[in-house]
Amino acid sequence: MPWSQGGNRGIGLETVRQLAERGCRVVLASRDVSKGQAAARSLGLEQGAQTGQVTVHALDVTDAASIGALARDVESAFGGADVLVNNAAILLDEDKSVLEVDVEDFRVSMETNVYGPLLLAQALMSSMMRRRYGRVVNVSSGAGQLSSMDGYAPPYSVSKTALNAVTRLLAHAAGKRNVLVNAVDPGWVRTDMGGPNATRSVEQGADTIVWLATLPDGGPTGGFFHDRKRIPW
Ligand code: NAP
Repeated sequence: MPWSQGGNRGIGLETVRQLAERGCRVVLASRDVSKGQAAARSLGLEQGAQTGQVTVHALDVTDAASIGALARDVESAFGGADVLVNNAAILLDEDKSVLEVDVEDFRVSMETNVYGPLLLAQALMSSMMRRRYGRVVNVSSGAGQLSSMDGYAPPYSVSKTALNAVTRLLAHAAGKRNVLVNAVDPGWVRTDMGGPNATRSVEQGADTIVWLATLPDGGPTGGFFHDRKRIPW
């Protein structure tokens, strides 16, 4: 039972679509339930649709109580999640120098882009490990790659580097229990975040996310991927 947060638009919504199309039952988690429901309707994938089932649930990834409530509901309704796609993120100060950014913007970015995914993994992974099946996909960014980091969007870039580190830690914590944890760079994608000039469609952006979300047993873990290929940290 996959679960995609930040699912009401952009790459998250396309990830929901592709997973549901494969016949997965998907929880589309959205800060605003009515936006989530409208998004699910826009795909023709409301609960009970033939292509799969999409259930909409409220989730603010910066709110630990909201994460706890969703984890409890998913446990009681579905016996836990098989897949977690940590997709929600914010992009602040795209054009500001690291010398000028208000440190509060680093804090806010870390809350959404790092601590949210971490709390969700903590809430869901122990059940995956017990059931000996799990796939965790942390939607990161090339901006978080230390090997090519420049001056772009300091709070966002630092948060994605941290998310990559969390990916490594989670993969190690999962041990050999068939819970595969990976990070992905979707590339520059035409969404509200990526803007209209981005070079890739949401279908292309979601492809490697869905690939990692449905890896076969024995697949890679603790890696960083772009277009289904490993990339440097
Ligand atoms: P987007 O269009 O800006 O959508 C962001 C999503 O995150 C929205 O659904 C938003 O919900 C949700 N969100 C933000 N804060 C949240 C919170 N506190 N709780 C729950 N949901 C929250 O972004 P996108 O382009 O689809 O990006 C998706 C992922 O890909 C992100 O992790 C991003 O960093 C990564 N990425 C994107 C690009 C790109 O070019 N687009 C490139 C590299 C990486 P609301 O509608 O409620 O705001």
